[in-house]
Amino acid sequence: MRVVLLGPPGAGKGTQARMLEKRLKVPQVASGDLLRAGVRSRTALGVEAKRYMDKGALVPDELVLKLIEERLKQPDAAAGFILDGFPRTVAQAETLTAMLTGDGHGPPYLDKVIAIIVPDDEIVKRISGRRTCKNCGAMYHLIYDPPRNHNLCNSCNGELYQRDDDAEDTVRMRLEVFAATMRPLFEYYGRAGLLSQIDGIGRPEEIQQRIVEALGDADATPKAPRG
Ligand code: AMP
Repeated sequence: MRVVLLGPPGAGKGTQARMLEKRLKVPQVASGDLLRAGVRSRTALGVEAKRYMDKGALVPDELVLKLIEERLKQPDAAAGFILDGFPRTVAQAETLTAMLTGDGHGPPYLDKVIAIIVPDDEIVKRISGRRTCKNCGAMYHLIYDPPRNHNLCNSCNGELYQRDDDAEDTVRMRLEVFAATMRPLFEYYGRAGLLSQIDGIGRPEEIQQRIVEALGDADATPKAPRG
């Protein structure tokens, strides 16, 4: 299964991707996580990317594409993947299509693109309480999904932190960027017959169920991109 999850920051893409990873037995590939790993280990790419991430702006395509291309070549992604946070622009989507149609996998190049729809005010509420595990990347929410032990991850006991770009004004900026870039992307995947939009309000299990239902239609939809 090759799945793309689209949606604004805080739509629950990461949570849903992790749930799907277990269900479909293919890895979550999150461009934001790959970029943050580069920032933490201070690679040249990470240092460059940080300048954009701190402002809530998109990192230039060539940096992100390099990371994604390398990641999708790893053996664990051969049977499929769940892309989370990528693509963010039509240029990225076009490169992804070229990458996947040229990899010898044969059609379909993607099984489904799922857009998780959540209103802006709800996003700001969610993100301000969001905490992430430094070690394994698991996500928590101080009110909706608190960790069992204060500031420690339930699965690996790693320390939880608030991402720098989760501050409210940076979140508003990220939402503006999302609004400006997503419509053409929705249109691109809509034309390809791959897009399903689902309501992102509800408990994670309910949203997962909507995604699973949308994936159930994957075989019935046309797959070829039309530009
Ligand atoms: P995320 O974890 O997906 O919310 O991404 C955090 C930040 O990383 C974004 O605000 C961007 O600065 C950068 N980023 C993540 N994915 C991409 C992408 N596909 N294209 C450009 N920038 C990205």
